[in-house]
Amino acid sequence: MKHVMLIADGMADHSLSQLGGKTPLQKAYTPNMDRLAKEGYCGLITTLKEGFPLGSDVAILSLLGYPPDKFYPGRGSLEAASQGIKLKGHEKAFRVNLVTIEDGIMADYSAEHIPSSQSRVLMRYLNEKLGDRNIQFHPGVSYRNLLIIKGKGEIKDNIPFTTPPHDIIGKEVRNYLPRGRGANLLKRLIKLSQEYLPQHPLNIKRMKKGLPPANSIWIWGGGKKPHGESFQKKYGIKAGIISAVDVIKGIGTILDMEVIKVRKATGDIHTNWRGKAKAGIKALRKLDLVIIHIEATDEAAHMGDPHLKVAAIESFDREIVGRIISAHPEARVFVGCDHATSTTLRTHTRDPIPFILWGIGKSNNCPTFSEVSARLTGVHFKSGEELMKLFIMGK
Ligand SMILES: [Zn+2]
Repeated sequence: MKHVMLIADGMADHSLSQLGGKTPLQKAYTPNMDRLAKEGYCGLITTLKEGFPLGSDVAILSLLGYPPDKFYPGRGSLEAASQGIKLKGHEKAFRVNLVTIEDGIMADYSAEHIPSSQSRVLMRYLNEKLGDRNIQFHPGVSYRNLLIIKGKGEIKDNIPFTTPPHDIIGKEVRNYLPRGRGANLLKRLIKLSQEYLPQHPLNIKRMKKGLPPANSIWIWGGGKKPHGESFQKKYGIKAGIISAVDVIKGIGTILDMEVIKVRKATGDIHTNWRGKAKAGIKALRKLDLVIIHIEATDEAAHMGDPHLKVAAIESFDREIVGRIISAHPEARVFVGCDHATSTTLRTHTRDPIPFILWGIGKSNNCPTFSEVSARLTGVHFKSGEELMKLFIMGK
């Protein structure tokens, strides 16, 4: 039996006045999802419980039956995994953004999406100035880099509390510096970066061109060595994952899934929709389960654009859901999202999310696919493990 999970990041939402009181999912024209809802089994599932970051990494792990309280290794660790860095022993991985701070205020969490070619130069420079045997900077993509710290002293069994820089735009950074045991080391590195980075020739050139300088690093999202059963061991089937997003690919890596690359998968509305569907259809020939993750829905909500979100949902329905079910009508299909993203608040929320299980041998006659119709079924899973068992074993 073949299984497909089609996940539109942040698809669920609240009702929006710009859409005449409908949610984007209600407003969008989605004949494929509506058909699956009618024929399949719908309901809600809670993926983001209190006490853990409101992120896709936590949500997808918990959807896959890996509850964050037992399993979540931290964002840095998932990003390291997606870059092929395996953490050893007490090593910790942190996300390092190249940011622009003006007069003590977080002005830009990405130094205006600094190109990878420049961030590589600056990471090498930071390694020369601040790195040693225990502290290593690793260039990633654009402003998204990594810091690996050999866990000694205060940072051995402990990850300091940190704040993502995109959450503190326009705020005074000194109120959001790392806190708790081990924080001093991180604070020292941030402070030293503010002495070295502004004088680097590359930043001087940026300023001459009127671009914001990458004048500080911001360290956050610490993670430790992941531990947990591989997906195949847990469920007895081989899985693969398709996503443009590093942390999601990192989930695939730590669960020993095949991480399938798709050219021009960008994570926005211009992503290679067809390429993703095609890669999924192909991968299903040899794998038992394929996850296709689409980011464009979440991006549109972060941009606060309800119409763009509706368009992204319609593309998801047509290009991904439609193509997959016509190529593999025999497969069991999960359709849903990882978490809700509010277009009004422009951020993730902990609302339970609607899903469809199709081809599992039971139906609860949901008339369409939406947050409301899923709630009206009265089905509400509290854990991903329950849902995955039903999905993989059937009723
Ligand atoms: Zn998001």
